[in-house]
Amino acid sequence: MIFKSLKYQKYADKICKKLTDFQENFRNEYDIDNYANWFYNQSSETLRLYSDDKDIYFKYIPVGTFSQNTNTWMWSWANEDSVEPKKFRTLKVKEFGKKKNYSNLINAHFDGDKYTGWELTSIAFDIIGGIGTYRVISDHLEKYFLLTEQITKREAEKIESDLIECSIHGKIRKAFICQHLNAETKVGFEEAFDSYRGMELDEENDFQAWCAECEKERLKTDGWNDESMEFAKIKLVCERCYFEIKELNQTG
Ligand SMILES: [Zn+2]
Ligand SMILES: [Zn+2]
Repeated sequence: MIFKSLKYQKYADKICKKLTDFQENFRNEYDIDNYANWFYNQSSETLRLYSDDKDIYFKYIPVGTFSQNTNTWMWSWANEDSVEPKKFRTLKVKEFGKKKNYSNLINAHFDGDKYTGWELTSIAFDIIGGIGTYRVISDHLEKYFLLTEQITKREAEKIESDLIECSIHGKIRKAFICQHLNAETKVGFEEAFDSYRGMELDEENDFQAWCAECEKERLKTDGWNDESMEFAKIKLVCERCYFEIKELNQTG
């Protein structure tokens, strides 16, 4: 039995109706229904729709997933398996839910039915914004997207090419660390800025960290210069490796 407050249901119905009209225009404008296949890339947060003779690319924000097996919804911010940085944008929905006391917008996961995914996606769309929404289904898992902009194939490839292929974690965002940081021993962990897993970054920013010894060198030379850079010998790792090393260094 799914309990929903009357106030929430009234609100949700209104928002769903709003999206239906909007989505209708979106489908027509981008001819969304006339692509045979889809492919999405979590690391670059891009969705490609394609047929033999054409394709179209979008940037997306993941809203959440609905399992047809267990009939449960999960907000993307709560999905620890997802490497999508923009999932945290959906916390804006949670904030709104807290103000209104709507439990479906606050709880990480809960029971639902076949309407749940679109209902919550409509609400997310109303709160976060975008140009349209999309859903894919594979292995009984429905995944919902807010599409934020159409991009060209070249732009999609550029986003992809900025990713690194990690032998353990797959294709994922890049991070930079000094030659001394490693996954086995604690050597101190200094960062260019405070970071957290899945954090969204501006185009100019990268995850960057160095060890305690490098920090000494850096301070000696009053910031990075050729000498301290030579000492650090910055290398490339994947984002997940970066956070594994960070967490190792932070454990008591
Ligand atoms: Zn170092
Ligand atoms: Zn890795």
